[in-house]
Amino acid sequence: MSYSASFRCIAGCHGTYPLDQVIYNCPACGQLLEVHHDLDALRDRSGSAWIKLFDQRWMTRDWPHGSGVWGKKEWVQPMLREENIVSAAEGGTNLFWAERYGKSLGLDDIWIKNCGNSHTGSFKDLGMTVLVSTVKQMIEDGKPIRGIACASTGDTSAALAAYCASAAIPSVVLLPKGKVTTAQLVQPLANGALVCALDTDFDGCMDIVQKLSEEEGIYLANSKNSLRLEGQKTVGMEIVQQFDWQVPDWIIIPGGNLGNVAALGAGFDMMYELGVISKRPRICLAQAEKANPLYRAYKQGWDSFEPITAGATEASAIRIGNPVSVHRAIRTLKAFDGIVEQASESELAEASAAADRAGSYTCPHTGVALAALEKLRARGEVEPGQRVVVISTANGLKFTQFKIRYHEDAIAGVESKHPNRPIELPSDFEAVKKSVFQALDQRAS
Ligand SMILES: *Cc1c(COP(=O)(O)O)cnc(C)c1O
Ligand SMILES: [Zn+2]
Repeated sequence: MSYSASFRCIAGCHGTYPLDQVIYNCPACGQLLEVHHDLDALRDRSGSAWIKLFDQRWMTRDWPHGSGVWGKKEWVQPMLREENIVSAAEGGTNLFWAERYGKSLGLDDIWIKNCGNSHTGSFKDLGMTVLVSTVKQMIEDGKPIRGIACASTGDTSAALAAYCASAAIPSVVLLPKGKVTTAQLVQPLANGALVCALDTDFDGCMDIVQKLSEEEGIYLANSKNSLRLEGQKTVGMEIVQQFDWQVPDWIIIPGGNLGNVAALGAGFDMMYELGVISKRPRICLAQAEKANPLYRAYKQGWDSFEPITAGATEASAIRIGNPVSVHRAIRTLKAFDGIVEQASESELAEASAAADRAGSYTCPHTGVALAALEKLRARGEVEPGQRVVVISTANGLKFTQFKIRYHEDAIAGVESKHPNRPIELPSDFEAVKKSVFQALDQRAS
């Protein structure tokens, strides 16, 4: 069966471009491109036949179909030859039932999709496997590509560097100096990427990498490039699959450059079009108050969008003031009865800490999404009995300083409500015993 996909303008201009062409914008109007699949060809299987096929492949060791992304290859990148797939068994991340945290809000069906339990510790792996595999095929086919470049708030660069290292393709990453965590900085260094730390913010890095990618031989890996979104759209498919193909009521997702929310919607649209699901979830996009251009536009009824200069936030991966995928995101939110919420530094830190106390280990961006959930619950927009999935975008272990600062009550402008510090004691049994029982009594009271 021959399935196919190509780039098209998101504004609907005529023209299609092959996925192995080096092109990021519509030549007619300059808007972004999106990947368009030949849905009629995909209708050769019924919805239930696709479900059966996807379930057969789910989490097996059958390479490459055991990957959460490549188990759905026909819907993602059908024109890729299997020998070019660069995969680290991404996807298939666990769905954590946040039972105690949910109960603290009076809700019993709250789930955290742990996309950070992945090869490089964030959902960026889902998209990067598709992009790097496609570039590998382009190089095999003789295209003059010398390296793949991205601007990053930390996680895109980690994923790009790892997948490029696997494929022996040079990677170039532009980071805002001093604005990514130590873990995120060392990841691309360890994977041998060419790392440039620029004296600017993410938006400044993005401007420069776009110009760099106009030079011959440099391919752009930011989510402006829709190939990434084709991989990222599998997150919604996985969530539905993990619930035996039932659609949750709400999905809450943190957003910065806003590619991921568009990808989430695209995955649901495709399942809907191809008869796998018969309803759509509502989507809530959550932003940090310090980097909230979409929230502002939403509050004004979507009338106008104004880029801002994003301020410092613990949620550093979404510190973006001029999101590349803003139009795609607005389209998605309109189609999914969507809303936008925001979280202050205090709200995101407390929500993250509350989920941790109930057994998670959440990154600050997940904290932003959890704080949004708490607001929706308080407003009655999320009700008991509704199933809510919060997308956890990165692994908490990448954000050690955020956790330490919270528990040392040292986050600027935040008064930690539940700091937890080590009790320092001499090496003395009686002293330890006394402290332990004192602390247990305190907790029981
Ligand atoms: C990239 C990233 C996001 C934001 O995704 P966008 O597509 O830019 O909206 C959120 N959280 C983490 C941890 C990320 O790395
Ligand atoms: Zn166009």
